[in-house]
Amino acid sequence: MTNPLILNNGIEMPALGFGVFQTPPAETAEAVAVALDTGYRLIDTAAAYANERGVGDAIRASGIDRDDVFIESKVWISDYGYDQTLHAYEKSARKLQVDVIDLFILHQALPGEFDKTVAAYQALEKLLADGKVRAIGVSNFMVDHLEQLLAEAAVVPAVNQIEVHPYFQQREVQAFGAQHGILTQAWSPIGGITSYRGDDAKSTFNDPTILEIAGAHDKTAAQVMLRWHIQNGVQAIPKSVKPARIAENFDVFDFELTAEEVSRIDALDTGVRGGPEPEVITLEAFGRDIPEE
Ligand code: NDP
Repeated sequence: MTNPLILNNGIEMPALGFGVFQTPPAETAEAVAVALDTGYRLIDTAAAYANERGVGDAIRASGIDRDDVFIESKVWISDYGYDQTLHAYEKSARKLQVDVIDLFILHQALPGEFDKTVAAYQALEKLLADGKVRAIGVSNFMVDHLEQLLAEAAVVPAVNQIEVHPYFQQREVQAFGAQHGILTQAWSPIGGITSYRGDDAKSTFNDPTILEIAGAHDKTAAQVMLRWHIQNGVQAIPKSVKPARIAENFDVFDFELTAEEVSRIDALDTGVRGGPEPEVITLEAFGRDIPEE
């Protein structure tokens, strides 16, 4: 494993983690168990994924010291507001079966109700002050959202988790984060979202440049993309439910891309977003109840 990343409050975070978006609740404990066994020490979940309990079950059953696993979760927009977000923490911590969540982040900005977003963030600041979380951050925040938040926040977010893969790199958001000490964490780091709609021609896994570079290192496209993130200083959280892929995605510490190869992947950016446009997120369209248990 490579050196951990250091967040802006001095907390260490593994450079590579494991994601569980779309992992069915009944399969989550097994997938996380395989990941922990493989060597992953960061698990990224979210209240909205409805699988925090499976993550907690696997961590408890693993026998790995709690301090050696970095748990990240996200508050869904339906729980924004100061008191609501404090309560959202209680729900997540209960399902995860932990007293402390390592990194707790806002899942989305609510651009039309930014005061609610700020109130939710202020609840995260309170959780941090109370020692219930070790670091706080945001997800899917664009530059204007970060600017608005920084104008009100007492604590600079440690992390902004955004869509980053070779076909959509969000360089201006990354640069703004770097200027302010906010680490970029890549979701869909191997471009999973480019293949969800079944269009193989648009999938990063079939990209000729990536496949050529992979061939030169006797590695796979996924491994090359993860290496690219690591060498760019971007934290990545690939997801899989398949043991062979979970292992493949962690086997990225024995090779290095050349500067030219990194530049060739940098040049693949299409500027086309796969996920929802952050500006259109509203409670009306995306709200959903997050259960207590
Ligand atoms: P990824 O880029 O991690 O790709 C996952 C997809 O690729 C799955 O369909 C998986 O299928 C497949 N896959 C995994 N490994 C390989 C491999 N080695 N070769 C070929 N195919 C592979 O996309 P995600 O969208 O899952 O993003 C990763 C994580 O980021 C999520 O799990 C979640 O934690 C987070 N996320 C956060 C979001 C946010 O809004 N903050 C939004 C989206 C994701 P299979 O499981 O069958 O192997």
